[in-house]
Amino acid sequence: MKKLLVAVAGLTALFAGPALAQNYPTEPVTMIVPFAAGGPTDIIARLVAEPMSRFLGQQIIIENVAGAGGTTGITRGAEAQPNGYTIMMGHMGTHGAAPALYPNLKYNPAADFAPIGVAAGTPIIIVGSKKVPAEDLQGFIAWAKKQGDKANHAHAGVGSVSHSTGILLNSMLGIKSTYIPYTGTGPALNDMLSGQVDYMTDQIVNLVGQINAGAVKAFAIATPKRSPALPNLPTTKEAGLGGYEVSAWNAVFAPKGTPQAIVDKLSDALSKALDDANARKRLDDLGAVIPEGAERGSAALQKLVVSEVARWTPVLKEAMAAQKK
Ligand code: ASP
Repeated sequence: MKKLLVAVAGLTALFAGPALAQNYPTEPVTMIVPFAAGGPTDIIARLVAEPMSRFLGQQIIIENVAGAGGTTGITRGAEAQPNGYTIMMGHMGTHGAAPALYPNLKYNPAADFAPIGVAAGTPIIIVGSKKVPAEDLQGFIAWAKKQGDKANHAHAGVGSVSHSTGILLNSMLGIKSTYIPYTGTGPALNDMLSGQVDYMTDQIVNLVGQINAGAVKAFAIATPKRSPALPNLPTTKEAGLGGYEVSAWNAVFAPKGTPQAIVDKLSDALSKALDDANARKRLDDLGAVIPEGAERGSAALQKLVVSEVARWTPVLKEAMAAQKK
């Protein structure tokens, strides 16, 4: 009898699966943001979650679960029930850089997720506090070399975008600064505004407003071309540091095992959100690069994750070794 009951329960689950996926979502969806509120990942998550909620017909609630360069929140997301009610906003750090820096990382970025799609590309900017006595990139480099470990370098935790692109910059310049970790670059930027930290390398969406307001000093953007959002900011190449070209990205993931019908609904809602006129304008104004056509969706994101892990692992291992010497 017990066996039969178990078999019946199994069958019910089997048939309920597709039906549940079809009706999905019948309750609010939680999107884990693995950093503090107010920073780039949080900004992008809120920007896309609002139109996604409209297309899904259910609210997406943002939950900030910060710690360990974003890996705490992503670990929680990877271990959540794969039913579409917990998704997460990862990025180049959590799904590209982290494996090089966390030997005991509890998830495999390429194998433990159902990728939903890239939400935004985010060029990296080298930015400093107004207290840094430099007006351009070469001035900043000269100052940083002179300061050595007296320069305070903000980042969002080991393996985050700001940390990995920061150690790369430092190792290229042959400098070792004092690293100051935060739960996200939102709070890091706040401390930079008050001059408590000197510099960082961060995602453009965090910075455009404060750069335009003259509240921080932007030294260069690490992309081959200038950003339309900051047309006066030179590229690293123009400013004489052509070897430093790095861009980040944010992307939505669900836990591995999420039913395909739900993954497809989420991908479709994300793609529609990226076509929403309001969201597009805000992303453009913040300097984000909106993925188009074949750059969207699950397959493109899976490919990106695999290539980013392969690209960052050797580079970061080398940069970390240089920082330890
Ligand atoms: N931009 C951050 C990073 O450095 C994180 C954040 O979004 O706050 O990874």
